[in-house]
Amino acid sequence: MEISADRVVLIHYTLKDDSGAVIDSSTRGEPLAYIQGHGNLVSGLEKALEGQQAGSKVEVSLAPADGYGVGDPALIQRIPKRALPNAGTIKKGMQFQANTDAGTRMFTVTAVVGDMVMLDGNHPLADKTLHFSVEIVQVRDASSEELEHGHVHGVGGHHH
Ligand code: ZN
Repeated sequence: MEISADRVVLIHYTLKDDSGAVIDSSTRGEPLAYIQGHGNLVSGLEKALEGQQAGSKVEVSLAPADGYGVGDPALIQRIPKRALPNAGTIKKGMQFQANTDAGTRMFTVTAVVGDMVMLDGNHPLADKTLHFSVEIVQVRDASSEELEHGHVHGVGGHHH
């Protein structure tokens, strides 16, 4: 069965950056399960997998615009520590949810200098070229319940 809209797809994937370092991989756990055509994967990967058969292996490199986007300098902000909750315990790497003009975003603390904190609201993988190695484990039709919920049930998906 080939991958097309509204089908459930199980994949094992490894994601590497330009230097070949592994950013993320499913291969030590359950495969990732998603529904094709619902924007569950980054757009370029979903596009590259369309029409592929179960059992196939796909290598695809995605420019930032087809992956997690191009970084927006406006989302890099310097604010006083006291503007954040738990000001005393703020450390590099902590994350906060904040409302912006573009909706709710996750901000990561990239530096703490004196009383000031540098926050970055871009996706951690923004501006990165993504190199995916994907093995298509299974392709099947989604149940009407899965389509209604917008996620996969069973292996690699929701158990409820
Ligand atoms: Zn469900």
